[in-house]
Amino acid sequence: MLILGIESSCDDTAAAVLRDGRQVLSSVLSSQDQIHSRFGGVVPELASRNHLENITPIVQSALETAGCGLENIDLIAATQGPGLIGSLLVGFSYAKALSFQAGIPFIGVDHMAGHLLAVFLESDVTFPYVALIASGGTSSIFLVKSHTEFQHLGRTRDDAAGEAFDKVAKLLQLPYPGGPHVSKMADAGNGQAIAFPRAWLDEDSLDFSFSGVKTAVLNHCHRERQSDSALQIEDICASFQEAVIEVLVEKTARAATLHNVDTIVLGGGVSSNLRLRQAFSDRCHKDGRTLHVPRPAYCTDNGAMIALAGYYKYHQFGEMHHGEDVYSRSVLG
Ligand code: ATP
Ligand code: FE
Repeated sequence: MLILGIESSCDDTAAAVLRDGRQVLSSVLSSQDQIHSRFGGVVPELASRNHLENITPIVQSALETAGCGLENIDLIAATQGPGLIGSLLVGFSYAKALSFQAGIPFIGVDHMAGHLLAVFLESDVTFPYVALIASGGTSSIFLVKSHTEFQHLGRTRDDAAGEAFDKVAKLLQLPYPGGPHVSKMADAGNGQAIAFPRAWLDEDSLDFSFSGVKTAVLNHCHRERQSDSALQIEDICASFQEAVIEVLVEKTARAATLHNVDTIVLGGGVSSNLRLRQAFSDRCHKDGRTLHVPRPAYCTDNGAMIALAGYYKYHQFGEMHHGEDVYSRSVLG
């Protein structure tokens, strides 16, 4: 079975062709980072305009790279949400139009289901597992019970982890997207240099809050500037990074303990962070748990994870018919 997966929930236009829910024949992507970098964040109107320009060539390229045409595709899967509505509309409507024109079954896929299942593009993981999805728009912990059953255990109450990285980068005048730049600076700094706060919230809460640590970085920079001290950017980055990672690791491990689960999976752009991967690996080793982290290209937004989630949803629920409310079958509720 060949599935064309289309993703356009934020600022990346992505498409992929997947065979039998496992073999990625192509996965192509057009990033808009350069367009949004001068604004220090994604501008929704610009994002949807660029999706419009990119969607046809990206889908063509996915088909060509896979060595097939639309006539070989058995199912079209597209992200139905959550995301920026203008961005979602481009990929979703394009996919529905293609499906209608070519008479190919169509299914709408929840973006988070894609992130939660991306690990299956590379490994076999046994259920249940606890997954942390940390990206620019999300910091959430899920209990994944099957390919189509996900329980939301915790979410961010304010900034997402990647958003905090991006905002800290902006106030330190590092380029956008800030995560990779902050983490590069952090490599040369001391993570214990500054005691930035860790927001644990209520004792048994699995929710996150990263706006406090971001404000603490801002206040620290103000104080240093007022006292005419040179900013130790490397130490600030390393200490901020440690504060974020410690909370992400601790709460994910807590979720696994609460639900008696011995496998942890990571996803979302922040999981490309090497220090985060190391911290999770150390913690899982200590706790006797197995850790799975997809390669960076499958951690960030991509079409292959949408095709994969579409494959399992289609086998479980069948085709989503044209005209059906796109949110009515959201597997995440
Ligand atoms: P969504 O939240 O809808 O998935 P997104 O565009 O934020 O959308 P991703 O591409 O998964 O999704 O993640 C991008 C985020 O990951 C950015 O905030 C970026 O700064 C962060 N990021 C990427 N690499 C690193 C890194 N090495 N360390 C920390 N953060 C990183
Ligand atoms: Fe995403």
